[in-house]
Amino acid sequence: MVDAAGFARPLEKVPALSGLDAARRAHLRDLAGRFLRDKHFSGAHGLVVDAGMRSTIATLACWPVLDLGYDWLTGWCEVIVYPGGFRARRVHDDEDGVVHEWDEDLAGESWDRGPLVLSWEDLELDLEQPQDCMNVVVHEIAHKLDARSGAADGMPPLPRSIRVSEWQREFQRAYEHLGEIAGRDPDAALIDPYAADAPEEFFAVCSEYHFLAPERIEAAYPRVADLLARFYAGG
Ligand SMILES: [Zn+2]
Repeated sequence: MVDAAGFARPLEKVPALSGLDAARRAHLRDLAGRFLRDKHFSGAHGLVVDAGMRSTIATLACWPVLDLGYDWLTGWCEVIVYPGGFRARRVHDDEDGVVHEWDEDLAGESWDRGPLVLSWEDLELDLEQPQDCMNVVVHEIAHKLDARSGAADGMPPLPRSIRVSEWQREFQRAYEHLGEIAGRDPDAALIDPYAADAPEEFFAVCSEYHFLAPERIEAAYPRVADLLARFYAGG
C-alpha cells in the first residue's frame, strides 16, 4: 500500500514531478504500489525504513519506467537503505558486471539482479536540492535498466526504433567530449563531470538530467538528449 505522504513528498519537492498531470500521477502511484508489493526493504546500520520512506523510494524508482513499463524493474527484489552516504561518488565496475559506488561512505550501489542499495541521507539531499539535478534513486535505477542488456555498459536494451550504431556513436562522441573538457577543467563541463568516469556513469548521470532537468542535457548534448527521450518513452 502506498503511503500518501511518502508518495506526495517527491512530487512536491522535484519540479519535474510536480508537473505530471493527473493521469500520469495515478499511473506512477499504481507502479509504486506494485514496487512495494514486489520488493523487500531493509535498513542497514539500524535504520528503520518506515512506510513513508518506502513509498518515496518506490515512487522515484518507478519514475524512469513510467512509459517503459514495470517489467523493466523485475528480476531483483531487494532494496537496502543506509542511513548515510557521501555525495562525491566513486565507481568500480568489476568483471561480474557489478557497479560499486562509494567514497568515504556509500552513496548507492546497483547489482545486476541483486539489491538496489541507497543512502537515505543522499536521497534527502537530492529532494531538498533538486537544482543540483541529482537523484540517487533515478541514477541507480538507470544502472538497473542498463544492466538488462547483460552488461552495465551504458547501453540498455533498445527499442527497434533506435539503432545500436546510432546509440553507440552519439553516446561515445558525447562521452569523449565530456572527458576532454573535464580533464582540462571540470568546472567548464556542461554536465556533472562525474559522468566522464565510465560509459555506464555517463548513461546514468545523463538519465538523471533527462528526468530532472531535460533542458540541461538538451543544451549540452542534444543528440544524447533525443536518444534518451526516445528510449525512456518506450521507443
Ligand atoms: Zn553510477
